[in-house]
Amino acid sequence: MSTAHGITSYFTTPQHERLREQVRDFAESKVAPRVAEMEESRAVHVELSRLIAQQGWLGVTVDPKYGGMGLGHLAKTIIIEELSRVSGAMGAMVQASQLGVAKIVHFGSAEQKKRWLPAVSDGACLPTIAVTEPESGGHVLGMSATAERVADGYVLNGRKVFVGNSHVGDLHGVVVRTGPGSQGLSAFLVESDRRGLSLGTHQTAMGLHGFSFGELIFENCFVPVENLLGAEGDGLAVAYSSSILYGRPNLTAVALGIHQAIVEHTVHFARTHRRYEGPLAELPTIKQKLGQLQSQLMTARLTAYHAAHLLDAGIPCDAELISAKLTNVESSLDSARTAMEVHAAYGLFPGRHIERFLRDANHIYAPAGTSDVQRLRLAEVALGTYREEWSARFADQLRIPEQAPGRWWRR
Ligand SMILES: Cc1cc2nc3c(=O)[nH]c(=O)nc-3n(C[C@H](O)[C@H](O)[C@H](O)COP(=O)(O)OP(=O)(O)OC[C@H]3O[C@@H](n4cnc5c(N)ncnc54)[C@H](O)[C@@H]3O)c2cc1C
Repeated sequence: MSTAHGITSYFTTPQHERLREQVRDFAESKVAPRVAEMEESRAVHVELSRLIAQQGWLGVTVDPKYGGMGLGHLAKTIIIEELSRVSGAMGAMVQASQLGVAKIVHFGSAEQKKRWLPAVSDGACLPTIAVTEPESGGHVLGMSATAERVADGYVLNGRKVFVGNSHVGDLHGVVVRTGPGSQGLSAFLVESDRRGLSLGTHQTAMGLHGFSFGELIFENCFVPVENLLGAEGDGLAVAYSSSILYGRPNLTAVALGIHQAIVEHTVHFARTHRRYEGPLAELPTIKQKLGQLQSQLMTARLTAYHAAHLLDAGIPCDAELISAKLTNVESSLDSARTAMEVHAAYGLFPGRHIERFLRDANHIYAPAGTSDVQRLRLAEVALGTYREEWSARFADQLRIPEQAPGRWWRR
């Protein structure tokens, strides 16, 4: 099924659609043949992660003066969506790397940008962001890992968990305590081969096999002062802005790609599986379910593309980004369950993929805030108490000039 029709092509340009075709070709020829291997071994697929990075897609939002594509957030959504349509794990790998890009783009010094963004853009460096800790989870201010100031740098101690790309990342963006309270968090760039940094054992989870979201352990890990991102005390802003401006839309895109796959596979099954001397799709209850899947997918894509388009236009859109994550996560999970019902017993076996989609979709629930957390933020929007509008604060860096408001209806 083509995705470039109706309301979505309202947002996408021919350039976006060419990019979609390119990523889809790559995903089907290079990623799809490795899915069974990833499912079976459950190991982190370092080689495939590197191959994807080498396509230059990690630099899609990076300014061309640093070797990036400079195509913005809707293009990023399309890249992640198309990879996730074939492999949620590899879509998640790209989203996690993209999340690692955010902090350098928004808080990096001129030197840090010059050093790291070209390497990210050509695929030599996979960045991550490490905020979550075992004892605090989504409560960022509850973290306890520390960085202590020493003569020419900082010494980091503590543990980070569920770090996307933990086992393939080359440059970790780590938020830790340098003092008390909300002004006491700071962010550091930590190269993966730094002494004092080690990885926890890779633990396989329910889904996203091939992807890693594991543990970083800091034991007297020294980083020089030039590895501080932004100023001391900017850590909370680094964590929150990355989560809103990149985390929400990236995970939205992973959920959307999985959702697209759910619908395609279920439609194919309903067309080809025979019952009562005809295709399953002829049964009224099955038709109802297919209509519901199609409606949910269309609504999900609309919210995802609309929010990303607003980011590209430099229009404040925190609420749209939050709502798109909520809508995409919840509707992909709901559609996964409906798809399982259409497949009935056949859905329970790995060969059909549908149980993989259900498992993978569950992984998108927690990162960048659970659905309950998204609803809390949206309640703040409704009540007028939502505080920092990150998309307004960084609008000048988010806007791509040719996507100024009004462009889409003039073309
Ligand atoms: C696939 C994946 C990738 C990830 N990638 C990264 C990454 O790259 N970097 C990183 O740092 N972390 C990452 N994470 C961690 C993720 O950010 C955390 O899972 C998330 O912050 C929630 O933490 P938690 O799972 O411990 O749940 P908790 O925060 O402990 O939440 C437990 C329950 O309490 C509820 N709850 C939490 N806070 C509130 C509140 N204020 N009010 C009401 N209810 C609340 C939640 O909705 C949930 O039901 C990733 C996680 C996954 C699954």
